[in-house]
Amino acid sequence: MHDPMARAAARLRETQLRVTVQRMAVLTAIEELGGHPDAEAVRGRAQEVTGGLSLQATYNVLRVLTDVGLVRCTQITGQQARYEAERHDNHHHFVCRFCGDIINVDCVIGEAPCLVADLSESYRVDEAAVTFWGACPRCAPAEHG
Ligand SMILES: [Zn+2]
Ligand SMILES: [Zn+2]
Repeated sequence: MHDPMARAAARLRETQLRVTVQRMAVLTAIEELGGHPDAEAVRGRAQEVTGGLSLQATYNVLRVLTDVGLVRCTQITGQQARYEAERHDNHHHFVCRFCGDIINVDCVIGEAPCLVADLSESYRVDEAAVTFWGACPRCAPAEHG
């Protein structure tokens, strides 16, 4: 068993989740792919370890990992859900309208939730997730041409 898989196993144990090859492989795939892969990309990578892994099984594992806070799931309108390792850094996302690229945007102001919501004090806000939309550097020139 190579190192990333052992690390994934340790992280699963910390959350009290049963350690399975599928869960280790999916968690490792997300770490190794980096960025914001969708379930199909995660499945492709995880399959190198698990052999046949259905898309449904991949979604099931992703949901479990998201529920325990090891994985962060981001829903972007008009796209498949995207996954990344949860680092609790309260980052936001920039989405390019043209190529669909997603990049991380650091916490906007200071610490979580980093934005002031117009809510009465009886609401306790602990997180804000903002999606910025626009054109990435690769797509911006085309927009003007
Ligand atoms: Zn773009
Ligand atoms: Zn992100």
